[in-house]
Amino acid sequence: MTDLTRLTAAETAAKIASGETSAVEVAKAHLDRIAAIDEKVHAFLHVDTEGALAAARAVDGKRAKGEKLGPLAGVPLALKDIFTTEGVPTTVGSKILEGWIPPYDATLTRKLKDAGIVILGKTNMDEFAMGSSTENSAYGPTGNPWDLTRIPGGSGGGSSAALASFQAPLAIGTDTGGSIRQPAAVTGTVGVKPTYGAVSRYGMVAFSSSLDQGGPCARTVLDAALLHEAIAGHDPLDSTSIDAPVPPVVEAARSGDVRGLRVGVVKEFAGEGYQAGVMERFNDSVEMLRELGAEVVEVSCPSFTYALAAYYLIAPSECSSNLARFDGLRYGLRTGDDGTRSAEEVTSLTREAGFGPEVKRRIMLGTYALSSGYYDAYYGSAQKVRTLITRDFERAFGEVDVLVSPTTPTTAFPIGERADDPMAMYLADLCTIPANLAGNAAMSLPCGLAPEDGLPVGLQIIAPALADDRLYRVGAAVEAAFTARWGHPLLEEAPTL
Ligand code: GLN
Repeated sequence: MTDLTRLTAAETAAKIASGETSAVEVAKAHLDRIAAIDEKVHAFLHVDTEGALAAARAVDGKRAKGEKLGPLAGVPLALKDIFTTEGVPTTVGSKILEGWIPPYDATLTRKLKDAGIVILGKTNMDEFAMGSSTENSAYGPTGNPWDLTRIPGGSGGGSSAALASFQAPLAIGTDTGGSIRQPAAVTGTVGVKPTYGAVSRYGMVAFSSSLDQGGPCARTVLDAALLHEAIAGHDPLDSTSIDAPVPPVVEAARSGDVRGLRVGVVKEFAGEGYQAGVMERFNDSVEMLRELGAEVVEVSCPSFTYALAAYYLIAPSECSSNLARFDGLRYGLRTGDDGTRSAEEVTSLTREAGFGPEVKRRIMLGTYALSSGYYDAYYGSAQKVRTLITRDFERAFGEVDVLVSPTTPTTAFPIGERADDPMAMYLADLCTIPANLAGNAAMSLPCGLAPEDGLPVGLQIIAPALADDRLYRVGAAVEAAFTARWGHPLLEEAPTL
């Protein structure tokens, strides 16, 4: 018998459409898997058994009536707990939203439901998406299915762990500085940060609004493309949403032809701090692209060196403003409201009790960087660096069609190793942050295992804004070539839990 949890999303949808299996059977197989192993992994904060089965029954009902099903109808998905879900808890990994049940669906949630995708539940994450390891979740860490003592990446570690442990074939993440791509890299899965504005932010809890971008996560490039197509598109409810056609991502993922494509290797993403095995696998991928007919050149983006510093001023600044709304009066937690205290005191006690240390650190940093007298020196300078980074990209994309780099400098590190060292933690996003600052599209996909520790390595591909289809073209080519040579790192060498 086929194990329904081992199929790709495309295979699952085909089996449901042909009647070989039903959406309910598929949902049950995944819910059983979650019940059996998630105690060990802790990918989910909330499992919506009833909602998932109802959604699956609706798909089966449509099929029985002969209605046309969408390309992902009946396929289960793990949703990062940063998107609002009507009637289902949404915590953003924070105590401050504990017990909050949103009265509305995010646009992305609505689109998933309209596509007949079955939402299994909400996944664990670093509080307010601040972190690179999921250790900042107020609800405890998530384990990496390759080695449960290691981090699954962050902030979307629950989503990547759900994929890598076969609890769901599809997942959703959000990427402000790397939180889709870095978890994908360290769990051997595929994650895409679409062009800024390509996927609606309406109903996605804001961290740093000029950088935040939701996107698809999956085990294969084609599955990610199918999900990308389902969630992208203009949304009048999000003022930064792009009013342009969705690039032909599925077509690109099916083609995977890179002959004549110009690929730039970013010179600055190498050297000290990069694990030898990560560089080895990255160099293999570059060689492979050459063999597939791409033209590979080295490019220099000198301002990328300052990306991390600029990000850690811009993101905290925006978060200090965005998180002001958690005042103990509007949603979730309220502390100290005993009738003797003023509203200000209740707000202060609620924020003291509801936010964790990383969130507090960033609110303080951001408030400082935005304060009069320091604004120009910190926030203003960071914005200038952001412009320089955008120009570096523009120059590079004048010469090449896509850029490539390792997604992360190292493979998954042990839980606890960087927990008390924010600076070491921030380094995990060294290679991913520039694309957020410029608003470009970027993907991470598996490119083998590092020889020294046997853990997955991610290849990052970056494309110009609105050229998301190039990611899928290159990603599909690399995935096919790797699979032909060594087998798919996750589908065949999957860790058994
Ligand atoms: N790790 C980065 C941070 O802590 C990026 C987070 C994200 O992309 N949400 O801010």
